[in-house]
Amino acid sequence: MTAKTASGDMTGSIIRLDNLTVAYDRHPAVHHVNGVIAPGSLTAIAGPNGAGKSTLLKTIIGELRPAEGSVQHQLKRTEFGYLPQAAEINRRFPISVFDTVLLGAWSRSGAFGSVSKADRERAREALQTVGLEGFEKRSIGALSAGQFQRVLFARLLLQDAKVILLDEPFTAIDARTTRDLIDIVGTWHGDGRTVIAVLHDFDQVRSHFPQTLLLARELVSWGPTEEALSPANLLKARAMAERWDEDAETCRPTDHKTADRKTARPAA
Ligand code: ADP
Ligand code: MG
Repeated sequence: MTAKTASGDMTGSIIRLDNLTVAYDRHPAVHHVNGVIAPGSLTAIAGPNGAGKSTLLKTIIGELRPAEGSVQHQLKRTEFGYLPQAAEINRRFPISVFDTVLLGAWSRSGAFGSVSKADRERAREALQTVGLEGFEKRSIGALSAGQFQRVLFARLLLQDAKVILLDEPFTAIDARTTRDLIDIVGTWHGDGRTVIAVLHDFDQVRSHFPQTLLLARELVSWGPTEEALSPANLLKARAMAERWDEDAETCRPTDHKTADRKTARPAA
């Protein structure tokens, strides 16, 4: 497991990032990030391309291992619902819409367990909620991008996770679908789930996400959205991105005592 069971003070937080650095072959993608996610909060992660946003999500769920620092929480892997960036999802797999949604029940049924009647009923309801009633037998390869994103949201509905992480859920998605899916995010928030979403559209962030974490490998700002996305902070993020040296290594040994540690392997 990447994450440590919380050892420090977790008061008021469901996830704590403690001096978190994540690197690929020693090149840092996320650098010395500190902060907490409050239970039930709705947080946007914003930042330029290559800012480490996807890397941060993958580290929170335990897919990547920190080079330094830690992600602290007391959640099981199955309590995280995660929607990767569209480019990372293989849609050529021959599977029906219904079965894709049912995969959301795996945390309860186990990979080889049988799916309960109740779960099948819930999968039907989830498809209704996302507006895809009647699409059950359709192969996922035969859906539009927006329809497919609706399917993935239905799967998250079935999974019933405590913490939901969405990586650019509305990029290249039509406006109507985006509106419908933002409503579902609002429902999750209303249910008291913790939601963290990487977003590019600042209007969407300002309208729907009370908290924002602005990342440019290092933390630029993290707090109430209006302050976090102030013109000064946005300028700072851009200036930091322009300075990135793709070949820079994690802190040199003179900078930091743990610089020699092995980094950025996928977690077991
Ligand atoms: P964002 O999601 O903010 O666009 P990423 O987290 O995807 O940024 O990437 C941050 C940096 O890490 C980028 O420089 C990217 O090229 C690099 N990176 C991401 N994934 C890998 C990988 N699997 N191997 C090597 N470098 C990677
Ligand atoms: Mg990304």
